[in-house]
Amino acid sequence: VASREVKKEPTQVVVRDLKVGAGMVGVMAGPCSVESEEQIITTARAVKAAGATALRGGAFKPRTSPYSFQGMKEAGLKLLAAAREETGLAIVTEVMSTEDVELVAKYTDVLQVGARNMQNYRLLEAVGQTRTPVLLKRGPSATMEEFLLAAEYILNEGNPNVMLCERGIRTFEAHTRFTLPLASVPYLHHKTHLPVVIDPSHGTGHTYLVPDMAVASVAAGCDGLILEVHPDPERAMSDGYQSLNIPQFEETMKRCRAVATAV
Ligand code: PEP
Ligand code: MN
Repeated sequence: VASREVKKEPTQVVVRDLKVGAGMVGVMAGPCSVESEEQIITTARAVKAAGATALRGGAFKPRTSPYSFQGMKEAGLKLLAAAREETGLAIVTEVMSTEDVELVAKYTDVLQVGARNMQNYRLLEAVGQTRTPVLLKRGPSATMEEFLLAAEYILNEGNPNVMLCERGIRTFEAHTRFTLPLASVPYLHHKTHLPVVIDPSHGTGHTYLVPDMAVASVAAGCDGLILEVHPDPERAMSDGYQSLNIPQFEETMKRCRAVATAV
């Protein structure tokens, strides 16, 4: 169902002002985790002013350690909805389990399925049963074939609004947190009609590498970018070491615009 042989025209995912796969690069930006009203509203205003069309922010957080901050849960979803009210930005947030799909879908414009859940087939079916657009992140050890078959689970339930997100894979290499293969963009465009989003934040794991890889992703032809942006990365409750601050995000947007037909 995801194959280019079945459908030649690229799929466009359009929700509010976020357009992915429609000849524009859709930019989803915001903190790894929603932390407070002030943090999310400040970030939302700033990323919107810089040209983002969606606000990302985790309320249910899949943390490697059970001792790390797990997210604000429904209170975080409410703050995202308030940020949308304030700015009009589309909201992208993760849903971690089948039983939360209805709750998360009530607040968000895009359901993110995280890398760790790419092969949680019951969750894929559950988001497939909604009509809310889905950002499906590649599992860190998943092959492209497994990634595309995961997308099929969602499409087969009748939800056509699937975006594929390359967020880096696990390799022997340790200079980056994950290894970000940008050949995924032309490869997936060759294989499928689904739009391709790149996550240079998780893909590199280091703030200083993110701007260049964001620009490179746009040059490679990605349909969207998802970027971690925090007003004070040093105090972030998760992933501060790979987050851009607001001036860095503004500068990255300028550089992306210079290589894109439109951002
Ligand atoms: C995230 O977007 O903050 C996240 C947890 O991403 P991933 O599932 O790609 O690790
Ligand atoms: Mn993160």
